[in-house]
Amino acid sequence: MEIARTLPALRQVCDRTRRPLALVPTMGALHRGHVALIEAAHREGATVAASLFVNPTQFGANEDFSRYPRDEAADLSTFEKAGCAIVWVPDVTTMYAEGDATTITVGGPAEGFEGAMRPGHFRGVATVVAKLFGQVRPDIAYFGEKDWQQLQVIRRMVANLHLPVQVEGVPTIREADGLALSSRNRYLSAGDRARAPALYAALCTARDALRGDADVAQALGAGRRSLADAGFTVDYFDLVEAETLAPPRGRGEALRLIAAARLGTTRLLDNIAI
Ligand code: AMP
Repeated sequence: MEIARTLPALRQVCDRTRRPLALVPTMGALHRGHVALIEAAHREGATVAASLFVNPTQFGANEDFSRYPRDEAADLSTFEKAGCAIVWVPDVTTMYAEGDATTITVGGPAEGFEGAMRPGHFRGVATVVAKLFGQVRPDIAYFGEKDWQQLQVIRRMVANLHLPVQVEGVPTIREADGLALSSRNRYLSAGDRARAPALYAALCTARDALRGDADVAQALGAGRRSLADAGFTVDYFDLVEAETLAPPRGRGEALRLIAAARLGTTRLLDNIAI
């Protein structure tokens, strides 16, 4: 495994690598969800480059950038065991060099939900992902369905900017009790960790009700109430068109239930296909 920390070093390893080259962008604090992305790339027969960069521009002023979990040695060891050929570990001044004056603002799927709750978040995500694509020049890039809205925002950016990269989504990896793996789960107190699986349970219950022709408003209302009863503060629990995140128009588009809810100071995100 080659670790590149500068753009010239990255260029050298990427230029002599076997294609297709897959990129798996991460912010570290790796878990089995990240490993699933690397495994999906291997199944396509790709050489895997992972990136490790906690991107400051996607965190709001009152968010957890400074306390985001960082353990580079453990992450490099996980990348190596997972069979990554290349790890790209840029520093902030490489990603945002002097004169940096370009950002990417995606509309459409970036506008509601996380986009509304975290102003500037998707601008930070889209900009850093575009930079990573320009640096690594992958043929394919892998993102988790766990961050459903993020996946749709990246797909839209790639389509609108005609970027020469194929974007693949990977299903969410969960704990045995249903909780979606997340680097932020470690912030949960023992009591909140015990309550946390209620989020996925509420999504499953609402999905089953909607598949059985239940009234949408009733099913969503029941989901929100069950989360409040379990001790969550619900930011949203909604049914949307899967690709656009617009309200369902009843024209047979794929639908997705998406949710964000807080336990104490920890915000949990999850979603499920209908
Ligand atoms: P992060 O390091 O949190 O920025 O996540 C890096 C990538 O891993 C993103 O594409 C996430 O959507 C994906 N990811 C995070 N958690 C999971 C999970 N539980 N299952 C699958 N993918 C995940």
